[in-house]
Amino acid sequence: MTARPADTDATPLESACPDCRVGIGEAHVEGCDVARCLATGRQRLGHAASCRCPQDTWTGRWPGEDACLEFGWMFGPGLPDLTRLLTTATWDPVAHRWTRPGNGIGTAEGEAS
Ligand SMILES: [Zn+2]
Ligand SMILES: [Zn+2]
Repeated sequence: MTARPADTDATPLESACPDCRVGIGEAHVEGCDVARCLATGRQRLGHAASCRCPQDTWTGRWPGEDACLEFGWMFGPGLPDLTRLLTTATWDPVAHRWTRPGNGIGTAEGEAS
């Protein structure tokens, strides 16, 4: 693990999705603005009707914010650089998470097992 920037950069967890109001760990209601397509990492509203991705769940944070925190891509407390994430990071459709460009799973120390 890389040293995280102060956890105070993170927005406090929201107990319910700001759009569809489901709780943490619950699947978003179909048509929710916040839900992501787990095949592409982008807004679920934009995914193909034929997309077979599983339901996305509300995590307590805006999608992508955790990744921005992890990569250090924050403008400031509670302000993740989501544009940078969408334009430079790669969505892993299997792990359902963003990976940093370049060296993939990115700490400098040998993680190869
Ligand atoms: Zn939702
Ligand atoms: Zn999808």
